[in-house]
Amino acid sequence: MGLRKLDVTVLNGRPSRTQLYTSDPKIRGVRVGPLMIGGGAPVIVQSMCSTDTRDVRATVAQIHRLVEAGCELVRVAVPDEVASAALSDIVKEAGVPIVADIHFHYKRAIEAIEAGVAKVRLNPGNIGSRDRVKAVVDVAGAAGIPIRIGVNSGSMPDDILQRDGYIVTPEGMVEAALREVHLLEQEGFRDIIVSMKATETKVMVEANRLFRKKSDIPLHLGITEAGLEGYGTIKSAIGIGSLLLDGIGETIRVSLTAEPEEEIKVCWWILESTGVRRRSAELVACPTCGRIEIDLFELTAQVEKLLKGIDLPIKVAVMGCVVNGPGESRDADIGVVGGKGKGLILRKGQIVHTVPEEELLSMFKLELDKLVEEKRLEEVEEA
Ligand code: SF4
Repeated sequence: MGLRKLDVTVLNGRPSRTQLYTSDPKIRGVRVGPLMIGGGAPVIVQSMCSTDTRDVRATVAQIHRLVEAGCELVRVAVPDEVASAALSDIVKEAGVPIVADIHFHYKRAIEAIEAGVAKVRLNPGNIGSRDRVKAVVDVAGAAGIPIRIGVNSGSMPDDILQRDGYIVTPEGMVEAALREVHLLEQEGFRDIIVSMKATETKVMVEANRLFRKKSDIPLHLGITEAGLEGYGTIKSAIGIGSLLLDGIGETIRVSLTAEPEEEIKVCWWILESTGVRRRSAELVACPTCGRIEIDLFELTAQVEKLLKGIDLPIKVAVMGCVVNGPGESRDADIGVVGGKGKGLILRKGQIVHTVPEEELLSMFKLELDKLVEEKRLEEVEEA
C-alpha cells in the first residue's frame, strides 16, 4: 500500500497542482457532497466549529474563516432540535460541505440529513435499537449521505475495556470500530468512514495500521485532545504524519486547544511536510553555523514575505554561506545564498546571478517573479 505520485489532478472539479499524491485507490471511495474521501482522491483537510450551532451567524462566520484557512469539510455539533433546525441555513451559507456530529439521538441525525448536511458522524451503538439504526440508515442511504463512525480512547465500550484490564489497546479500538461497522453493514449500508482517535500517539497509529489490514473503509485520522498549539502540533504531526507516510489516511483533523483555524494551518503543514499535498511554496533554510556570512534570519523572513500568496508547489532555499549553500540548495527551484558582501541566486543549483549583498533580495524577487510566471504558463499549457 502506498501513495501514488501525480503532477496534476482534479480536485472538486478544478485542475489542481496542490495534490502531489493521491490516497490509495484500492480504498473504498465515499462521496461527501462534492468531495470524495478515499478511492484514490486527495487527502481532505477538515475541522470542527467551536461555536454554538444554534447561533447561525457565529457558526457561518467561523466556517468562512476555516475555509479561508484551507479547510475543505467542516463538522458542527448537533446537540438538540434547535441546533438541527439551524442546519439548513448553515448548509446554505457555508460554501463547504457540512458534517453533523450526533451523539445519542437518532432523530437529530435524520433532521440533519433532511437539512442537507453532506455527512453524519455517529456511532450506531449509541443511538439505541436496531429500528433506530435502520431509520437513520434508510434516510442516509436515500440521500446518498455517508456516516463516519468515531471510536475515541475516552469512550471505549465497557466490555472491551474490562477485558483489556482498563487499558485502551489498538486491538480494542479496532474491535470497537468493527462492531459499529457491522451494525451499519447488516442494514446494507456501506458509505462508511472510520476514525480511531486516541490521546496516546502510538495507540492511535497502531490501531489505524491494524484496521487498514482488515478493511478497505477510508480512515479519518486524528489524535484526540492533542493539547495546546506547540505540543499538540508535534503530537498530531507524529501520529497523523506516520500514517500518511505509510499511505494510510484519507482525511485528517488536528484537534488543538486553540482556534480551529490553527488546526487547519497544522493540517496543511502535516500534508506538506509529508509530501502528500502542497498548496504553497516550500521554504527551506539552513540552520546557520559558524560559517555564516549574512544575517540569515532577516533574509529568510524577507523571503518568506515574498512567498506569501504563491500557491505553486515550488521549493525555495535560503542558505547562509557559499561553501555549502549552493550544494545544499541544489534541488530547490530557486535559491538565494549569502556570501561575504555579495550573494548568489541559483535556479536548480545553477548560479544565475552574483550580486552585491544590498541587491540580493531585489534580485531574488526578480528571479522569483520570473519563475512564478514560467510555472503559471506551464499550468495553462497543461490545463
Ligand atoms: Fe553553515 Fe553554510 Fe550550511 Fe548554513 S549553508 S549551515 S552557514 S555551512
